[in-house]
Amino acid sequence: MAGIYIHIPFCKQACHYCDFHFSTSLKNRDAMVDAICKELKLRKSELEGEVHTIYFGGGTPSLLTASEIAKILNTVHSTYKVTGDPEVSLEANPDDLVSLPNVSLSAVNDQQTLPNSQGMKNKLQAYKTAGINRLSIGVQSFFEEDLKLMNRAHNANEAIECIIQAKEYFENISLDLIYGIPKMTQERWLENIEIALGLDIPHLSCYALTVEPKTALEKFIKKGIVPPVEDDVAQEHHQLLIARTEEAGYDNYEFSNFSRPGWESKNNTAYWEGKPYLGVGPSAHSFDGAQRGWNIANNAIYLKKIANNELPIQRETLSKTDRYNEYVMTGLRTKAGVSLLKISEVFGEKYHDYLVRQMQGHLDNELLFIGDTNVMVTKKGKFLSDGIASDLFLIN
Ligand code: SF4
Repeated sequence: MAGIYIHIPFCKQACHYCDFHFSTSLKNRDAMVDAICKELKLRKSELEGEVHTIYFGGGTPSLLTASEIAKILNTVHSTYKVTGDPEVSLEANPDDLVSLPNVSLSAVNDQQTLPNSQGMKNKLQAYKTAGINRLSIGVQSFFEEDLKLMNRAHNANEAIECIIQAKEYFENISLDLIYGIPKMTQERWLENIEIALGLDIPHLSCYALTVEPKTALEKFIKKGIVPPVEDDVAQEHHQLLIARTEEAGYDNYEFSNFSRPGWESKNNTAYWEGKPYLGVGPSAHSFDGAQRGWNIANNAIYLKKIANNELPIQRETLSKTDRYNEYVMTGLRTKAGVSLLKISEVFGEKYHDYLVRQMQGHLDNELLFIGDTNVMVTKKGKFLSDGIASDLFLIN
């Protein structure tokens, strides 16, 4: 079982918090689509086994037309062995799918279909025809204040209209939301959650706003233009999110991910389980079970190298300790936790004994618990899972 990740390195504008790789110039878009197709062919021998998931991430994949997406998907199908029913996800921004006059938030409650341009319906239909069967929509917030602070390209009404329309074509939809935004009160965050739940979407991905180095957000906070991001506020938001989604029947199957039973992201789950994946496009990462690779995060160099039949990739072989640390980190973030049995079998007794010693304090403080043979974070420990994981890391 393997996955393919395709990075589309273009965005309309830079969100203030973002440190992903993208260019706001679309002038090389045709060349990029061709180069991605070529990279898929050049790396054919790297992926063994059937492809179960294909994921268009970015950047902003919804800047591409359905025929450009279809061209890439056709190359995947003609080059790799793809299972009969792959999960094919596309990250989409509301403003790429909709353009319409203001509509009201009350539309959420009665699920009415709002007046809309035919354009969006055609685009959604065309994506579906191209082979996309899961949409991940980057809403981030339903409030203008938050969207402006983050410099998102859409407004709240576009997010709502886009979701209502998307539901006519796609069952498998996920929304991205961000909490811990400066000036975001508990009430406003709760209202965001309620709007998302009211839209009857099977999957939510919710992330705490983080201040990445060299982003506009970092600069604004340093200059006092934007208040700092508070960790304890984010923790309160996360707790509220867990309580409210649980009540609504969603399973918090990974720290940031919530789904109705059976609607978990197959792509993300395979990633957390350490399954191999091939990442194509500028800045895309790959993993073959032993080696990690990352493509150059520069569109011009990427295009030039691919044109010369060179792979723009750097690779490193993970040591046993690297793999142990990664497993502990991702395991603690998931519902399954970290298997002590797996630690013994895959990494050996030295790692098992080290883990058991290191986790004792967290067991005593009720941040971790052991269920059968797996170590998991408690409700109290959930928000602290990354810090707890780092206490369990082995440093060579
Ligand atoms: S749309 Fe996504 S990738 Fe592009 S700048 Fe915003 S957050 Fe970053």
